[in-house]
Amino acid sequence: MEAEIISVGTELLLGDVVDTNAAYIARKLSLLGIDLFRKTVVGDNKERLSRILKEALDRVDLIIISGGLGPTEDDLTKEAVSEVMEEKLILNKEIVKNIQQRLPSKNLPEKGIIKQALIPSSAKIITNELGSAPGIILEKKSKIIISLPGVPREMEKMMEEVISYLSTKKEIRGYIQSRFLKIWGIGESQVEEKIADILKEQSNPTIALLVGKGEVHLRITAKFDDRKVREEKIKELEDKIRERLGDYIYGVDEETLEFLVSSSLRKRGLKLGVAESCTGGLLSHRLTNIPGSSNYYNCGVVSYSNQAKSELLNVSSSLIQEKGAVSSEVAKKMAEGAKKAAKADIGIGITGIAGPTGATPEKPVGLVYIAISTQDKKMCQKFIFSGDREKIKWKASQAALYLLNKSI
Ligand code: ATP
Ligand code: MG
Repeated sequence: MEAEIISVGTELLLGDVVDTNAAYIARKLSLLGIDLFRKTVVGDNKERLSRILKEALDRVDLIIISGGLGPTEDDLTKEAVSEVMEEKLILNKEIVKNIQQRLPSKNLPEKGIIKQALIPSSAKIITNELGSAPGIILEKKSKIIISLPGVPREMEKMMEEVISYLSTKKEIRGYIQSRFLKIWGIGESQVEEKIADILKEQSNPTIALLVGKGEVHLRITAKFDDRKVREEKIKELEDKIRERLGDYIYGVDEETLEFLVSSSLRKRGLKLGVAESCTGGLLSHRLTNIPGSSNYYNCGVVSYSNQAKSELLNVSSSLIQEKGAVSSEVAKKMAEGAKKAAKADIGIGITGIAGPTGATPEKPVGLVYIAISTQDKKMCQKFIFSGDREKIKWKASQAALYLLNKSI
């Protein structure tokens, strides 16, 4: 089955709102094994939408539209759809009643409610549990047009019904399943080099390399009707890739470094103390983004100045004088100081130069030391990160999380 997505809204066209709906729908279609041919953005204009619909109907069997189902004058999707598909718009009294009963607080004007309750005569209704405008599925002359509201939350919820509807279509060729391997510590081209022969041989499953934020993602995608076959094929390829990339693969699918660190700390009942300089609290921010972080995150210090390092973390000023604030010695002391101040089991210390100023001939921009101190071991690793200030801060927080994950 071949499909197109049409996003309706002048605000999307002008760039005031980023079209995230089309990306969401595209990902869902790809998991169903439906080939997506084109995405279009069109303003709130009935003539242009009708023209785009007609063209798309010439090319594909399935069109999914998001937006333009609301109660206002500029919401014109159903009008365009019914015109192109030669359907009458008929008032559905059930929908009127439903909106009035469910959303009295919205205080929608009668006219607006009636507009939302106008449905093409042979369309199936998709209930909108989170908002007012229902969606429609219109199947006619071996074409399918599905229209969903623009509000992302509503659209995403209603896609569940769309997916189960589309799954029943025999034209769907075979389900797709993907697995993401999350890689930290080597770049995209190095990954490519390490698995060059595997990449060359790929057909089904396929492999795609995607550059993430301070990391690389490798997606394995298999397309087979049978779920067991899909899973086996993915596993087989994953094992082969793991042999080559080993420890560089830190997680899979939705797992993030902060999630993994949090789960390990929690599982082992360990508490963490954090001392940050160049990351300015980013590590603490990322760790506390995980719900329940109070179970393991005791205290964090952003010790930016030398004075703060001495007074709050007990790093001696003579050591800072002698080795410099950005040094492995100071990072180690920061980690120990953080552990002590937080009465924790593990301390981490980060010190570095995020740039663009502050570099010396011996200490370039991007130089970062990350130290970890636990009950029985102390370690420190030196990094030189590239990029602007924000990138360096992010990469340093990534490295810190990676090292924490390994050492817990
Ligand atoms: P409503 O009932 O709210 O009027 P609607 O179906 O008419 O729904 P729109 O008016 O087009 O939808 O959009 C509603 C809101 O959803 C807009 O404020 C917009 O910010 C957001 N939105 C619309 N389309 C998209 C899209 N493709 N991607 C992301 N956000 C979108
Ligand atoms: Mg609207």
